[in-house]
Parts: sequence; C-alpha cells; structure tokens
Amino acid sequence: MRIPVVAGNWKMFTTASEAVALVRSLKALVRDAAGVEIAVCPPSVNLIPAAEELRDSAIRLGGQNMHWEDEGAFTGEVSAKMLKEAGCHFVIVGHSERRQYFGETDETVNRKVRKAFSAGLAPILCVGETLQERESGRTEAVVKTQLEGGLKGFMADELKTLVVAYEPVWAIGTGKTATPEQAQDVHHFIRTWFEKTFGPAAADGLRIQYGGSVKPDNAKVLMSQPDIDGALVGGASLKADGFAAIIRAAVS
Ligand code: PEP
Repeated sequence: MRIPVVAGNWKMFTTASEAVALVRSLKALVRDAAGVEIAVCPPSVNLIPAAEELRDSAIRLGGQNMHWEDEGAFTGEVSAKMLKEAGCHFVIVGHSERRQYFGETDETVNRKVRKAFSAGLAPILCVGETLQERESGRTEAVVKTQLEGGLKGFMADELKTLVVAYEPVWAIGTGKTATPEQAQDVHHFIRTWFEKTFGPAAADGLRIQYGGSVKPDNAKVLMSQPDIDGALVGGASLKADGFAAIIRAAVS
C-alpha cells in the first residue's frame, strides 16, 4: 500500500510574505487530510519563513533544486545541507525546466540524487519526454535513459525514500494534460523498469507522481490509475483552495 504524495512546485513565484500567507491558508484547508503526504516547494529564500509557518503542521517542505557539492564557490547555488537545515524533507531533482534552461544532465542529476540521499533528503526525480520525442515514438526510450542515468550506481536499499515524478514536458504549464491512459502507460513502464533493475519489493514501494497541468478537475481520474501515486503540481499549487482540492482527490 503506497501512500500518495502530492507536492506543490511553486517555481519562481511568491515573495516571502506571499509564501507564508499561502502556507497558512493551505494548512487550515488540509488540517484533517489523512492518508496522503503533502509537500510544498517554495523558492529557496522562502523556505525558512515557510518552515516557521509549518511548524505545527504535517505539510512537508521541499527544495526545488540543489547543488551536488557540500559547499564551495558556486555562486547562486544551494547545498543539500542548507536545504536540510532549512527544514526540507524533499528536494526536486532534474525538473525539465532545470534540464531545459540550466543545462542539467542525467549525470548532474545522478550526482544530486546521491548527495540528496546522503544529506537525508528524499529526492523527487523528474523524468519525461518532449512533444517531439512522444510524436516520434521515443517516450519509453527517453524515460528509460533518464532513469538509468539518474539512478546509475544505486542499490535498491538506498532508494527507499525516492519519489519519481513522470512529467511529460509538453504537459507542463501548457494546460495540456496527459490522458489517464497515457500517464498510466508510462507509470507502468517506469515501475516495470524499476522491478527489472532493483527488484519487485523496490518497485512495489516506489511512489510515482504524475505532473503536468494537474488541476482540481482532472486530479482524481489521474490519481486513481493503479500506478499513479500522487502528483507534482506547478501552477495549481499556487492557490490554496485548488491545491487542497487536488490533495483531497488523492485521498478519495
Ligand atoms: C511542474 O512544474 O512540475 C508542473 C507540473 O507544472 P504545471 O502543473 O504548472 O504543469
């Protein structure tokens, strides 16, 4: 039995006061939500104020990105240790926006996943194909390459807290959602790959989120697919009531 995990990726939205207000509203709306793990991933400068507001709440905090080194001359970056001390439980790694705009590769993703685990963070590893890759029939090959690269060198027992997010690039921020069947097919592929690579117990326990224009009105049908264990939500996580509705859809 996998507990669904619904995480909000706030991207580069919210000032500190807006982040605190959003977290405060969300906290009140989901106070009674049981059977679902909830997380918010604000911009890194807003992690500490958000953590303070979340002190009496089960909502977890996540970073949106991190560097793979412990510290050093890497202007503009944050480390795993910094995220951990700020109160993070999760960290998103390999989001398609990071791959597309900031040169993230499967190799750097792999280093980040390794560092996240060693710092006690649970990585949310993002994979997904572009529209061109889907239309040329390469979805599974692309996702397989990203999984192989991102998880290279790991043993099954190191991956217990890993979350994989399947996020078709063509569905992120576009309003186009994968159909439940399209999403389920890729989620099933990911779990099967995981089983072949890390064994049945690891595959059975792996939580695979869907991400890409998840909204209150499509969340339930997506998350009721057998291999979809929650959602990574961008735009719709910026409104407390809409995000709370998505969280409720994960439970029912
Ligand atoms: C995301 O940023 O991970 C995402 C899925 O965005 P959106 O929900 O806005 O498509």
